[in-house]
Amino acid sequence: MGERELLVCVDGEFYPEGQAKISVYDHGFLYGDGVFEGIRAYGGRIFRLGEHIERLFESAKTVGIMIPMSREDVSKACAETLRRNGLREGYLRLVVSRGVGKMGLDPRNCRKPTVVIIPATYVITLAGLKPVKAVAVCTRRNPPFCIPASAKTLNYLNNVMARIEAINAGADEAILLDWRGYVCEGSGDNVFMVKNGRLLTPPLEASILGGITRLTVLEVAKKLGIEAVEKDLTLHELYNADEAFLTGTGAEVHAIVQIDGRVIGTGEEGPITKRIEDGFKRETQRPENGYPI
Ligand code: PMP
Repeated sequence: MGERELLVCVDGEFYPEGQAKISVYDHGFLYGDGVFEGIRAYGGRIFRLGEHIERLFESAKTVGIMIPMSREDVSKACAETLRRNGLREGYLRLVVSRGVGKMGLDPRNCRKPTVVIIPATYVITLAGLKPVKAVAVCTRRNPPFCIPASAKTLNYLNNVMARIEAINAGADEAILLDWRGYVCEGSGDNVFMVKNGRLLTPPLEASILGGITRLTVLEVAKKLGIEAVEKDLTLHELYNADEAFLTGTGAEVHAIVQIDGRVIGTGEEGPITKRIEDGFKRETQRPENGYPI
């Protein structure tokens, strides 16, 4: 919780943080049966909300949850949550679970999905950290023949376990490999590297979440005339990168300066990362990228 009690939206009703609750019979709690989004607002506009809502509906479709609202109504509810809290900048956690029902996996036990929108004034990922140290961890990202990584579901245990490994190793963030051993992504962010002036990042086929920040960064690179290539990356390539960074709604563009004890480039945020970071910040301020609060 932040320093003041914000209002959380639960199935269309607003409750102070301390009173915002869902049932223990909610299948999101019982089985991790749900989907979610992390969304951010800048300067009174919600950044690329349409893409977040689309990804939410796609994740829900994959796991067979029918969101009981239209895309426009979910968008309006996000804006309303920020408005009610007087927030022009901030983070939103949008969660849709299968809903409340008697125990048992049968989804027909749940009559209606639960829709929760939690606002936050602080940013949850890598907040306040200087350029990060990362470690490649044993826990792998879900392969496409399990829960697909492109669906943002409430089953984030691989990611949580990866983060635990990173913390135990004294690092800030984990780098997960995919089922084949190629570099995949961070526990809650995508990975980029720079080599000889080119930007490289794992392709969607590497079983990553298709990050909206990742997409924005690829667009920024194009605008800046920086060549960007989506290809499988080995740890060898990552260790020998000139620069590396993470991208995500929480992380924004965040330099990595060490991986598994190997110093990346000069050990500080590199010049191309800085250009991308500045370019990304400009995108967050552009009115056409934002849904008005
Ligand atoms: N990968 C994972 C596993 C994530 O959970 C996230 C979102 N937190 C991202 C990447 C970044 O996605 P986005 O840029 O859309 O926030």
